[in-house]
Amino acid sequence: MSTKMAVDRVFNFSAGPAVLPVPVLEEAQRDLLSLPGCGASILEISHRSKQFIAIMEDAEQRLRDLLGIPANYKVLFLQGGSRLQFSMVPMNLMRGTGKPAEYVLTGSWGNYAVKEAKREGETRVLWDGKATNYDRLPNLDELEYGDSAYVHLTSNETIQGIQFASDPNRSESVFVSDMSSDFMHRPVDVARYGMIYACAQKNAGPAGVTVVIVREDLLERSDDSLPGYLNYKSHNDAGSMYNTPPTFGIYVVGLVAKWLQEDVGGLANMYQRNRDKAQLLYDVLDESPEFYQGHAQVSDRSLMNVTFRLPSEELTKTFVAEAAAQQLESLEGHRSVGGIRASIYNAMPIEGVAALRDLMVDFRNRHA
Ligand SMILES: *Cc1c(COP(=O)(O)O)cnc(C)c1O
Repeated sequence: MSTKMAVDRVFNFSAGPAVLPVPVLEEAQRDLLSLPGCGASILEISHRSKQFIAIMEDAEQRLRDLLGIPANYKVLFLQGGSRLQFSMVPMNLMRGTGKPAEYVLTGSWGNYAVKEAKREGETRVLWDGKATNYDRLPNLDELEYGDSAYVHLTSNETIQGIQFASDPNRSESVFVSDMSSDFMHRPVDVARYGMIYACAQKNAGPAGVTVVIVREDLLERSDDSLPGYLNYKSHNDAGSMYNTPPTFGIYVVGLVAKWLQEDVGGLANMYQRNRDKAQLLYDVLDESPEFYQGHAQVSDRSLMNVTFRLPSEELTKTFVAEAAAQQLESLEGHRSVGGIRASIYNAMPIEGVAALRDLMVDFRNRHA
């Protein structure tokens, strides 16, 4: 796949929907009128056509190869975003177990998730970072786990910019991880989790498709009384074709996985790239803590969403405007945290991060 851009593009630091790899967009564009060997667009063909089934199988196989997903895990392509998973997880994995669900609250998304779980049954908050405004993470191996249906965590808190750097290692609990904003940013040990889910529009594709990776035995918990669409078992039994799946989204997720395999060379390489990119920005924060105030504690900083504040609202506005004038777009922080948020997902090229770093250094030198 070529990396040359046919048109001018800005460096897009949006938190989501977010930047996609140029070769992915080019391939999708090239094949949009007619998929090779098909004579029709991906947008036009039946989800039951042999061409689409091949595309979906290919996407699943690439995810399995990239993440080393064990054979006893199922991969589902669903709709409704990660928000629907906030409800489907407790409906399927808690209902009928007679046990509470445990939640680790490390930021905004974890709080939205527990709110939905409370509608379904008893929840226990294992840890809550609210007192320090969600700027740090607990050590997952040292929490006091009880006898629960599952333990829910958010691998990367997209709004606060804090991220677990490793997988939990407590085999007595069933971990469910919301990996929406860092899915496939590093190799993970899938076997440490009962379930992983990720809406695609942050780090894996377009809005409209959510990847669910679930251990086979957990599907037995899904009760027949659940509405069909909300039941993992019905999706699994139908091979993600319980209803018409989000065909275009699945196709693009497959292209992103192919890019990770063939252009990037796998998740270990992607992880190194992500660390290199984030380091460029964190070095500036560390050099000038009196000017750029990072939101996150150093040990818990996210490789995906870099959050920081400038000395004043006015300087923040000026910074965002100067950035936009240099084609560095969508840097405003989330309204609940303020300041700047630079989302530098897998597809953000290091050139974009370096350009932002240069502006940060120059801006500080002019305004500090
Ligand atoms: C964006 C995001 C969500 C919500 O995803 P939707 O697809 O909008 O439902 C959930 N969790 C995290 C960590 C996110 O970043």
